[in-house]
Amino acid sequence: MLGEIHEECGVFGIYNNDEINCAHETYLSLYALQHRGQASCGIAVNNSRIIDCYKNTGIVPEVLTQNVIKELSDKGNAKMALGHVRYSNSKEEVNSFNSQPFVMSYSNGSLSIVNNGSLVNTRKVCEELENKGAVFQTSSDAELIAYIVARERLKTDSIEKAVSSAMEKIEGAYSFLMMTPSKLVAVRDPYGFRPLCIGKLKNSYVFSSESCVFDTIGAEFVRDVEPGEIVFVNEKGLNSIKEHCGKKHSLCIFEHVYFARQDSVIDGVSVHAARQAAGRYLAQQKPVEADVVIGVPDAGIDAAVGYASQSGIPYELGFIKNRYIGRTLIQDKQSIREKSVRIKLNPIASVVKDKKVVLVDDSIVRGTTIGVIVSLLRKAGAKEVHLRISSPAFLNPCYFGTNVKSKECLIACRYDNNIEELCKYIGADSLEYLSVENLKRIAKNSKCEFCDACFTGNYPIEVEADKKDKFSQRIDEYNLTGQIKLEESF
Ligand code: SF4
Repeated sequence: MLGEIHEECGVFGIYNNDEINCAHETYLSLYALQHRGQASCGIAVNNSRIIDCYKNTGIVPEVLTQNVIKELSDKGNAKMALGHVRYSNSKEEVNSFNSQPFVMSYSNGSLSIVNNGSLVNTRKVCEELENKGAVFQTSSDAELIAYIVARERLKTDSIEKAVSSAMEKIEGAYSFLMMTPSKLVAVRDPYGFRPLCIGKLKNSYVFSSESCVFDTIGAEFVRDVEPGEIVFVNEKGLNSIKEHCGKKHSLCIFEHVYFARQDSVIDGVSVHAARQAAGRYLAQQKPVEADVVIGVPDAGIDAAVGYASQSGIPYELGFIKNRYIGRTLIQDKQSIREKSVRIKLNPIASVVKDKKVVLVDDSIVRGTTIGVIVSLLRKAGAKEVHLRISSPAFLNPCYFGTNVKSKECLIACRYDNNIEELCKYIGADSLEYLSVENLKRIAKNSKCEFCDACFTGNYPIEVEADKKDKFSQRIDEYNLTGQIKLEESF
C-alpha cells in the first residue's frame, strides 16, 4: 500500500543497571522503529534525576545527529531514557509542537512520557479538566495522560498508583512509557490495542513497541506487557500491577497485516508468519491461472510468498524499491503521492513481461497508489494483473491511533464495496480481498484477541464519532497555528 495508512508512533525506553550509554541505545532503537513514524522523533534522558530532552520534526538521522547524541550522553551514563518516533499528517509536519517525549514539571518532581495510540474520550476528559482551569500546550494525548497522572500522584504515595487511577479516567488505545526521577513505568491499555514488549540488555530493562528493536541492540526478549498491565522498574527491580487486566483484548490486527516489521513477534505470533498465512488463505479463496506471483514491498512480500507456496505459482521479486527518498517526497497529497510511487517503485520488466501476474499487496485505502502500481506493471509488459489483497476491504475509520479518520478517504466505501467496479477503477483483471473469516485465522496462536473494526465496523469501545470529528477539527487548528485558541469552547 506504500504509505497510504500510517501507524502514529513507536516508543522505546531503557532503565540502566549497567554502564550503558542510554542516549545511544535509544537512538539505535528509534532507527529500528522508524517504520512506525517519520514525522518527528526525540529522546529524553534522566541524568542524576534531571531530565534532558531533544526532539524535532524529521526522521531519526536528520534530528538525532551525532552532536545531539553526544550532548545527551556527555553528562555520563544516564539512569533512564525514553525515545519516540511519530507519524502525523502534513499539517503537523510544519512544527514540532506535538513531538515527543513530553517533559513536564509538577510539585512532586518531573515526568517524561512517550505514547503510542489514541484515546477515544479525549474530548470529555479535556473538557472536564479545562473547566477546572487546566491549560494544555498541545493536542497530544500524551500530554493529557501525563497531566492526569501528575494530578493523581498528588493524591497517592506512588507513581504506579497514580497511573492506575489515571487509567480509570482515560479510554482508548495507549501504550505509554513514563519516566520519573527514579522509576520507569510501562503501560498497555486494557484492550491491548498497540503492542509493547519487555527486553533485557545485560542487567538493564528495555521496553519497545516492537521486538525487532531488541535484535538491533542485542537485547533478549523477555515478554509482552499484558493488556492492562502496569510494569514499573526501579532500583529494586521489575514489578507489575495487573488490576486493569482481564478485559476482552483488541490488539490491532493491522499490526500483523502492515504496521509492524516482519521480524517482530507480537503477543507470541511472528508478523512474518501471519503475513504468509494471509497469502496462503488468499490463494485458497480465489485461485487464478498465472505465471508469476509478485508482492508490493514491503508488507506485500510475505503474503506473496505465502500465496506462491499455496498455489504452486512461482514467486519472483517484481519490484525494486528505492529506499533513499527524502521526507519531502513522502507527503500526503495525491499529486505528490502519484509521482512518489513512480520514484519509489520500479517493476522488473523481465519478471513480468508477457506474463499473467498475481500482484499481492497488504491493503487498499485510497486506491490511488495501487492503481499507479498496476499501470506500471502493464507498461512493463504484464499481460494480465490479478490483484490480491491480504486484508479485507477497509470500510470504517480507525479511532485508535492511525491516520484513517473518515470514510471519505476509503475507496471501498466510495464504491460501496462493489469489488467489480473497484477492480475496473484500479485497472486490474481481477481483485480479491482476504475474507474477514480468514483474517481472524492469520495469527490464531496469538495471546490476544483482535480489533478488526476498520473491516467489520465492530468497534471494541464505543466511539462518539461526531464528537471525535469535532475534536479532529480542533487538532487541525492547533497544528496549523501552533497555538490554543483560548476563547474556543468545544
Ligand atoms: S480499527 Fe483497524 S487499524 Fe484501527 S485499531 Fe482496529 S484493526 Fe487496527
